[in-house]
Amino acid sequence: MKGLISVVTAVLQDGTSRGNLKSLFRLLLVLFGLVVLFSVLFHLIMLREGQEHSWITGFYWTLTVMTTLGFGDITFKGDLGRLFSVIVLVTGVIYLLVLLPFTFIEFFYAPWMRAQAASRAPRELPANIRQHVILTNHDAVASALIPMLEKYGHPYVVLCSTPRDALALDERGIKSAVGDLDDPETYSKMRIGQAAMLVTTRDDMVNVNVTFTARELAPHLPIVASAGSSASRDVLELAGATLVLRLEEMMGQALARRITIGDSDSHLIGNLGGLHIAEASALGTSLVGLALRDSQIRSRTGVNVIGTWNHGSLEIADADLAITSHTVFVLAGTKRQLETFDATFTTQTMVKPRVLIIGGGRVGRATYRALKSLDVCGLSIIERNADRVRGIPEAIIGDATEMEVLKQASAREATTLIITTHDDDTNVALTIFFRRLRNNLQILARSTFDRNVPTLRRAGADLVLSYAAMGSNTILNVLRGSDHLLLAEGVNIFPAAIPSSMAGRLLSELDVRTQTGCSIIAVEKGGERITNPPPDFRLPSTGRIFLIGDLAAEERFLKKFKPGLVPALRRRAMKS
Ligand code: AMP
Repeated sequence: MKGLISVVTAVLQDGTSRGNLKSLFRLLLVLFGLVVLFSVLFHLIMLREGQEHSWITGFYWTLTVMTTLGFGDITFKGDLGRLFSVIVLVTGVIYLLVLLPFTFIEFFYAPWMRAQAASRAPRELPANIRQHVILTNHDAVASALIPMLEKYGHPYVVLCSTPRDALALDERGIKSAVGDLDDPETYSKMRIGQAAMLVTTRDDMVNVNVTFTARELAPHLPIVASAGSSASRDVLELAGATLVLRLEEMMGQALARRITIGDSDSHLIGNLGGLHIAEASALGTSLVGLALRDSQIRSRTGVNVIGTWNHGSLEIADADLAITSHTVFVLAGTKRQLETFDATFTTQTMVKPRVLIIGGGRVGRATYRALKSLDVCGLSIIERNADRVRGIPEAIIGDATEMEVLKQASAREATTLIITTHDDDTNVALTIFFRRLRNNLQILARSTFDRNVPTLRRAGADLVLSYAAMGSNTILNVLRGSDHLLLAEGVNIFPAAIPSSMAGRLLSELDVRTQTGCSIIAVEKGGERITNPPPDFRLPSTGRIFLIGDLAAEERFLKKFKPGLVPALRRRAMKS
């Protein structure tokens, strides 16, 4: 009943529906007028023929003829009466069999169905909802974030400005609600005071308004907002954003870091309470040709080799790993240990890279700036639209698939190609094109949606970085707090209370790495943290360990060792 009332109210509140209802009412009025008129005429013509009938019979006759039922029990004998019968019949067909059903469906039934569907998109969240995440957009980042939120047990809602948008999401199984983004009332109804986070990834100015409005109502809520420019970043910070996401900038820097140049310096990719995670290329160092066990990396620098990147995914390092010039290490250590690593394994032969960037959009330009700051000199950028690369002397204007343009950009001499457009289809096409052209080219590609990463790899890219994964992981790190760190490549650093099955045992006999794919990178006991514990380290009976591994490895660890007590882990263990 309550649902019925809300649907009726929605139909009556909607301006178009109100207009439609008026049209339907007018049609019914005309119909009623016609029935009365025909009933009166029936009476008069029957009297002319010498037949006498009651008013009820006249009404009955009109309806049976108009609805084409025509029982034939009351008939006219003369031509005038028969002509009148034909007119009543045709009018009935037009009004009752054509106009009325059409008007009813178009002006009443359809708005009714729409209103009923719209009532499925709530304008208010239940009062008992807690720790939920409010999103203002369903973009590539949100579509990667939502499954993770579900995995970690956070309710979420995507806030839409119109019921139509909310319904479109609802039909795809995405939880949505309706409300004006600039109205404080909306956030009160979304129970912002009980929320875990607000994520706004709309246009910069909308994000500023959303942040400012929400901040008033929830002074301590983590608010993550995206920004397209550094000016917007400053305004968003002033408006009260906890974290301003500049994903294009992050993506540009990440792509630039991955070029093969034989710079063995470690590059920081994450920091978890003083434990630095970095990557470093073996190219050009004395490490090439050695097995990891003979490299003495740990004994000389204290740095732990967690694994290596293989086409963008982490492979846990094995002592027998043969280090080649293509090896890119993922390292864990303190800042000082990493500095020692840089000083110990200096590059002996720097490769002079020649990098060709395709696309001068935000990511392309950020990649260009990042490469400049890494002192890469052999740079060119191909862009179709001259306005986008104004002020970049190395820019070549034209289409990257045209031979003339490629010649101009000296594409043959390029050692690395970075494909940066936001259109995944274009990126797949460009990757296929360039892989056919040059087999020995290092191709790095951006993908906007996670789902296109495997396609780009199959197309021939050596490394694909996903924009959606980068954004969603960064947001998740803020949500999960300082104890957790999820790197863009799906590698997770997480804490676990030392389970009883591990307490008091040597790391070497536990062999966590082989059994689960996770690596223990730190042990914490009574406020003291031991980074990179050696294999003969005996675990204390209480305290916690920090592990690194991809999400599947983390699941295996949780299943096998069943650690307890760390809230985030417990929440997830309950879900699985
Ligand atoms: P965005 O998608 O905003 O990161 O920008 C991508 C940029 O790549 C746009 O400025 C496009 O003009 C440019 N672009 C896309 N395809 C090509 C191509 N085949 N050759 C050159 N530039 C391209």
